[in-house]
Amino acid sequence: MSYPYAAPVSQTLFDRAAVVTPGGVNSPVRAFRAVGGTPRFMVSGDGPYLTDADGREYVDLVCSWGPMILGHSHPEVIAAVQAAVARGTSFGTPGEGEVELAEEIVARIGPVEQVRLVSSGTEATMSAIRLARGYTGRPKVIKFAGCYHGHVDALLAAAGSGVATFGLPDTPGVTGAQAGETVVLPYNDLEAVRAAFAAHPGEIACVITEASPGNMGVVPPLPGFNAGLKELCADNGALYISDEVMTGFRVSKAGWFGLDGVVPDLMTFGKVMGGGFPAAAFGGRADVMAQLAPAGPVYQAGTLSGNPVATAAGVAQLRLLDDAAYQKVDAASARLRALVTEALDKAGVAHRLQTAGNMFSVFFTDEDVTDYAGAKAQQAFRFTPFFHSMLSQGVYLPPSAFESWFVSTTHDERALERVAEALPGAARAAAEATE
Ligand code: PLP
Repeated sequence: MSYPYAAPVSQTLFDRAAVVTPGGVNSPVRAFRAVGGTPRFMVSGDGPYLTDADGREYVDLVCSWGPMILGHSHPEVIAAVQAAVARGTSFGTPGEGEVELAEEIVARIGPVEQVRLVSSGTEATMSAIRLARGYTGRPKVIKFAGCYHGHVDALLAAAGSGVATFGLPDTPGVTGAQAGETVVLPYNDLEAVRAAFAAHPGEIACVITEASPGNMGVVPPLPGFNAGLKELCADNGALYISDEVMTGFRVSKAGWFGLDGVVPDLMTFGKVMGGGFPAAAFGGRADVMAQLAPAGPVYQAGTLSGNPVATAAGVAQLRLLDDAAYQKVDAASARLRALVTEALDKAGVAHRLQTAGNMFSVFFTDEDVTDYAGAKAQQAFRFTPFFHSMLSQGVYLPPSAFESWFVSTTHDERALERVAEALPGAARAAAEATE
């Protein structure tokens, strides 16, 4: 397709980047490969808006893939960061900010009795799985097709079909041995989990699942699915790991746990808790966490874990996230969802708008999506012209049909009005799209 307008400065930067960085980006989805065109190089953010290197302003519906729940450049977060930076940027010793951030997390999330800070969601899930294996003395991990837990070797395994399908590596560089201990099952299918436990008695260390998946688009757990996972894990001596890197501190004060109340053995966090800085965490039952070094034998460490600037940003952000803040985010999300539905309905585009708290995504299909196969069956080709129409009208969507949209406390009527103005044209473009 042809793209509605050029972004010459971004294009020049992208060309320079491609010389020194593979594919011109430091995380693949940023390259716009799923939608084509020039990735926008952003230079500043303010509330719900981003400004690119060509000087164009966008309403941001990505929010840095989740973290910016208070909008960009929140004055109190910026002030906390500036104060921390002025004291020094890294000490390699314990610091009060780490204690404060850990206390905030433990206070909000009942099942987390102890927490260990790390620097990315990937590190959090990798460490939680090592801990589960160390604690249980078992090798295998169950994960679900379509759930993303970062680029951990053992979790980059795709689904084959069938109940006890062993993961095949999803990418060169992951060995069969690394992926071979991973059992990949269809999401929302408790029978498949039951059968996998029966097929591998005494071998499964843990089940890891996104608390409510947002990485195949938004596909919430069916009623009873998470509770069923918890029960099957308990019955079979395995740990239940709920990955709340995306949902944690976003969909409620206590994340998805705050909405469904199912108590995991271990949980992982990232994104919102870092206030826009690299901070993440895993935590849970004290007896399991006690196995971590230096308290216990399972090794885990990090030069920049609990970094003072990152923890200052995280503490400031979490302290601002009170009930009123979540009400604002929920209201903005509800209003936006209504606008999207109205525009797509008017244009006669078959779609499902699926929600998980204030996270949501649009599937171009007329069937409910409950697993990865359903997500992939959508008419994703409609997303490309939809995305570019929105972009050309100053609305920045995730550049993929398989991602959640995110809003913040700052997505006010003015910002949403701009989205409302852009939607009819984008919906028409989606309606006219051909494969
Ligand atoms: N887990 C989930 C549910 C995620 O959505 C992500 C990232 O999108 C990760 C883990 C990995 O986090 P990070 O990108 O910080 O390594």
